[in-house]
Amino acid sequence: MLIPEAEHDDLHLGERPLIVCDIDEVVLEFVTPFMAYLDHNGHELRATSFRLHGNVFSRADGSETPGETVSAMLEAFFEAQDEWQTPVIEAAESLARLSTHADIVFLTAMPPRHRGLRRTLLSRHGFDYPMIATEAPKGPAVLALHGARAQPVVFIDDIFVNLQSVRKHVPETLLVNLMANDTFRALAPHPGDGVEIATDWPHAESLIKAHINASAG
Ligand SMILES: [Mg+2]
Repeated sequence: MLIPEAEHDDLHLGERPLIVCDIDEVVLEFVTPFMAYLDHNGHELRATSFRLHGNVFSRADGSETPGETVSAMLEAFFEAQDEWQTPVIEAAESLARLSTHADIVFLTAMPPRHRGLRRTLLSRHGFDYPMIATEAPKGPAVLALHGARAQPVVFIDDIFVNLQSVRKHVPETLLVNLMANDTFRALAPHPGDGVEIATDWPHAESLIKAHINASAG
């Protein structure tokens, strides 16, 4: 199986449900360690709205950090992600239980150049599921994976546009909104119609199991 515009591990789906799962803010903490990374580099993220750019300020003089500097620090953060990013609580345990019922595939919007380091970091924390890295929209990627299979399909992500992209391309998908950072979750826009909002991994796991059981009749 080959996913267009992506770099990915070998993908072999069984005849069973499919769970497509985002990484940042879903299985790996992103906002909390990025705040720590900014602090380490003399900047702070002020959580006043649901975005990074425009909310980062210099600790030295309080000035807004230019967008290109924020982008450069984000890139440097991902180059050192294995020193900063930690697993989201209960993610590995929930996915391990779900993996007895379903195939799990990670779908991350990270530039493919960071794929190797991310693969190593995931495996270190017990996330031994195949990963797709692509900056293309997520809906077509899920469609390429799932096609016209009759099995249930689930998609978990923190971002509105990703959830709605999958809703558009694979409308039968159970869409689950999950975001680890409480502060930014409170600032996030509503994920849109047709999306279940999970407060944590145990909640997401129960939503997914109920969906799979209902589909099995
Ligand atoms: Mg994410």
